[in-house]
Amino acid sequence: MLDNWQKQFVETPDVLKSAKCPHTIVRVRDVEIGGDDFIIMAGPCSVETESQLMATASHVRRAGARILRGGAFKPRSSPYTFQGLGLEGLKLLARARNEYGLAIVTEVMSEEDVPMVAEYADILQIGSRSMENYSLLEAAAHSGRPVLLKRGMVATVADLLRSAQCILDQGNPRVILCERGIRTFETAMRNTFDVAAIAMLKQVSHLPVIADPSHAAGRRDMVPVLARIAVAAGADGLLVEVHPNPDKAWSDGEQSLGFAGFDKMMADLKPYLALRSQVLHDLEHSQSERGRPLNEAVESYSMEAVG
Ligand code: PEP
Ligand code: MN
Repeated sequence: MLDNWQKQFVETPDVLKSAKCPHTIVRVRDVEIGGDDFIIMAGPCSVETESQLMATASHVRRAGARILRGGAFKPRSSPYTFQGLGLEGLKLLARARNEYGLAIVTEVMSEEDVPMVAEYADILQIGSRSMENYSLLEAAAHSGRPVLLKRGMVATVADLLRSAQCILDQGNPRVILCERGIRTFETAMRNTFDVAAIAMLKQVSHLPVIADPSHAAGRRDMVPVLARIAVAAGADGLLVEVHPNPDKAWSDGEQSLGFAGFDKMMADLKPYLALRSQVLHDLEHSQSERGRPLNEAVESYSMEAVG
């Protein structure tokens, strides 16, 4: 099976699973992405004000999120809409990290901004519109920070893997893939959530895969069900937009969950996450029962990225 994938993705050998590298865990502060825990990254689309960010950070932390998301540099569909607070937004994110112990993921849009964003963020997000900006990918890789690489909205899985390979080529193995929906002829929702790609990436690649149901759905009533589907597809976590007052959000309000909506999504996820833990546990157990020493199995299972 793996052999077939090796042939299909011959251009990007280092992102593919191998006996030597079956699984990568990206460690960020005290969080392991791609390990046993399902990691919730939550927060507003854009950092707007101190009170908006702190209220969100406090809430999502209490509800189980480990990572705070929030854009300080915003790639908007229109250049005439809010473009983000820039440095001021990064400083607010850093303050929220200190206050609430959440790691920070935030987008970097240009090469020149990489050192500044890397100074404040724990994970650099490469947005959908930037997935094929190779000079930005190289600069982000050189920062040494983990990179959350979002799939371009018209990118194939092979294109996504090519961009991931580009980051690995620069000597940075801490890459997290993110499926956020793609453009298809279907327009009822903002994008088409390609859950098959999540399942396939988990089969083909050793890199962690995060699902973004917010940008896939484009409407908050669909976010919880897409989140549940992402768990079943094998995702390692979620990137979800949450806002204290979604109807007043400066960007992506229609797809942002309010606090009560986020709590409900988290509660509804519980049985699915319990099943996921059971599956992972059984997998580990059956490996050890097949005669492979458990510590060896766990070691290869959690083949850690350096850094
Ligand atoms: C975002 O995460 O707010 C964002 C702009 O995402 P994408 O690049 O997937 O559109
Ligand atoms: Mn957004």
